[in-house]
Amino acid sequence: MSLLSIVLPSYNEEQNIENTSKTLASLMEQNGIDYELIFISDGSRDKTFEEILRVSQENPRIRGAEFSRNFGKEAGIFAGLELAAGDAVVVMDCDLQHPPETIPQMWQKWKEGAEVVEGVKSRRGKESLGYRLSAGLFYRIMSRLLRMDMSASSDFKLLDRKVVDVLLGLKERNTFFRALSFWAGFRRETVSYEVQERKYGKSKWSVWSLMRYAIANATSFSTLPLQMVTVMGMASILFSVILAVQTLVRYLKGNSVEGFTTVILLILIVGGCLMLSLGIIGHYIARIYEEVKGRPKYIISRVTDNVRGDVVGAWHKGD
Ligand code: UDP
Ligand code: MG
Repeated sequence: MSLLSIVLPSYNEEQNIENTSKTLASLMEQNGIDYELIFISDGSRDKTFEEILRVSQENPRIRGAEFSRNFGKEAGIFAGLELAAGDAVVVMDCDLQHPPETIPQMWQKWKEGAEVVEGVKSRRGKESLGYRLSAGLFYRIMSRLLRMDMSASSDFKLLDRKVVDVLLGLKERNTFFRALSFWAGFRRETVSYEVQERKYGKSKWSVWSLMRYAIANATSFSTLPLQMVTVMGMASILFSVILAVQTLVRYLKGNSVEGFTTVILLILIVGGCLMLSLGIIGHYIARIYEEVKGRPKYIISRVTDNVRGDVVGAWHKGD
């Protein structure tokens, strides 16, 4: 019988763990799916990991790990993939905003041969205006940069073991799970779902953190910003040629004294472009620096009793 692993990154979700694990467990049992739940507590400051420990003692199909600090949801997802033993792995939020009833549909598609089953949002849940605007901007920028339609995509998806192994084999440190599963290819299917309201607690994203996320993901997946620097350079060269011609004409006509405004403007424009370009290049160098250091994506500080292997430090599979 095939095993389905469900990976649930959780950050300060003490109120959700019990409810989510019960809901998922009974749903899997009803549908006769052999399952395991993997909770990754992302350096939570509340009792999330204690809750995970408690539910794992009640149900041996629940396993979990705690990070030494907050490493972000991406790291949580990858730690979960690393721990998962399933023939297929579902990644979902642990606040039940990704409706669990979708999982049996994904499972069905997987049985019919799909290797990546993408959850596609058919309706976004209730969100504040600020969040909606920043998330909208985020997806527009991302779709442009990645040349993939990201507006409906989410981290809610099922991956076949083959795909999980491909993702785990990637050496890069700055990952973008959502786009990587596109990038990997394989036979894809989609299942649409409606985003539910959060049961307890509140969203961990702010406008600022979404912006940082957008920039980090854009630069980890696209070199377009670097090419933009070249385009900007060419535009300013064109502009300066036109100005040069104008200045020369004026000089030859003998009325070349004015033009101080032009000089100031030029200095500002060129200076601005240069600084922006250096900033973009600097950002990529920072990325290269981070990758070259080759630090692990996350550090695990504690695991539930039913997890075997090297527990402290980056997780290494080992029996
Ligand atoms: N999450 C995480 N680490 C973080 C932030 C969030 O593991 O640093 C988890 C969180 O516990 C939840 C999921 O990622 O299971 C989605 O987070 P949230 O519900 O806050 O985001 P939203 O649903 O508003 O996009
Ligand atoms: Mg949520």
